[in-house]
Amino acid sequence: MDRIYLDYNASAPLRPVARRAMLEVLDRERATLNASSVHYFGREGRKILEEARGKVASLVGVPAAQVVFASGATEANNTVIQHFSRHYPLKRILISAIEHPSVLKVESNHELIPVTGEGLVDLDALENLLSEDGGAVLVSVMAVNNETGAIQNLAGVSALARKYGAFVHSDAVQAAGRIPLNISEMGVDFLTLSSHKIGGPPGAGALVMGLCGETPTLIFGGGQERGARAGTENLPAIAGFGAAAQESLERMNHYQALGSWRDRLEQDILKATPDAVIHAKDVARVANTSLFSLPGVSSETLLMALDLEGVAISNGAACSSGRVEPSHVLTAMGASREIASSALRISLGWATKESDLTAFINAWTKVCARLNRNHSA
Ligand code: PMP
Repeated sequence: MDRIYLDYNASAPLRPVARRAMLEVLDRERATLNASSVHYFGREGRKILEEARGKVASLVGVPAAQVVFASGATEANNTVIQHFSRHYPLKRILISAIEHPSVLKVESNHELIPVTGEGLVDLDALENLLSEDGGAVLVSVMAVNNETGAIQNLAGVSALARKYGAFVHSDAVQAAGRIPLNISEMGVDFLTLSSHKIGGPPGAGALVMGLCGETPTLIFGGGQERGARAGTENLPAIAGFGAAAQESLERMNHYQALGSWRDRLEQDILKATPDAVIHAKDVARVANTSLFSLPGVSSETLLMALDLEGVAISNGAACSSGRVEPSHVLTAMGASREIASSALRISLGWATKESDLTAFINAWTKVCARLNRNHSA
């Protein structure tokens, strides 16, 4: 069976350039390169590390020195939230209600910023929270939501945060390589990136530091990453991350062109199943993502039926301890439990072909007919 992969927001397939960059490091016969060593091999490692740092920096429009490599976005997000929670225990931390768990679950004292029905941070509500007694030290709002693909108004968020003297962190994992990112135009102080969402390997990510003077640090030990993140750098993964960052920046136009395929796909879904509900449809979204619900059918049922047809997509729900919870993102957007429990996410990427979408629609029509949920039902 030809299997179709439409789950790029979970993890994108490794780009060939990233694989080559990793193999160049892995295949060195004499030494696994430790970029901290002073000898020849260490210097070679340092060169590879700094080249990758430059490529990742270009993706977000900062000088290389502002990029701190980490094990992934989860670590980068934890680093920022833990730093502010530890160092400013009397100040408040405001986190949007639709953040990834690696932001939401780091500490329990934060306050949630509500979102609108279309999944955008409610700026009036944010201003109310910021103006309350006790002052907020940090506002954390993601650049693009991983479930809906909705693009947040970060300039608006940052302007409000500045007005009230709060720092701004943005998880830009799902924005990188999809929309132009510039940390100063966005007005953010800290930005999180992940390698495996842009076609690099898993196990690498970065915390990009603005120039606000704070250096959040989570892992202490050796002086790697200028003391901001101890531990020998994962050079093969970082080399792959750098290569993927460079290619995704160069090919961003291709990514944006996926929007017409995504829009056609949504029309085809509505044609086959007119009661499907497409989420965040009327706000700016990244071109590769579609989140929709088929009320009355659980996402797991659809997901498994599609998997049997050879189509890999995702649900908008989080599975923890074997129990599937409705999507917290859709719940925050005011969706009913029925809608939030029947959500499915399709996400396209660098290797998606138009024929993959035809295969999806064929499988969708077949599965929904079997469940008596097509237009003739
Ligand atoms: N933030 C967002 C928005 C994500 O989608 C993910 C991956 N699901 C992460 C953070 C975590 O990234 P990583 O796997 O690199 O830790």
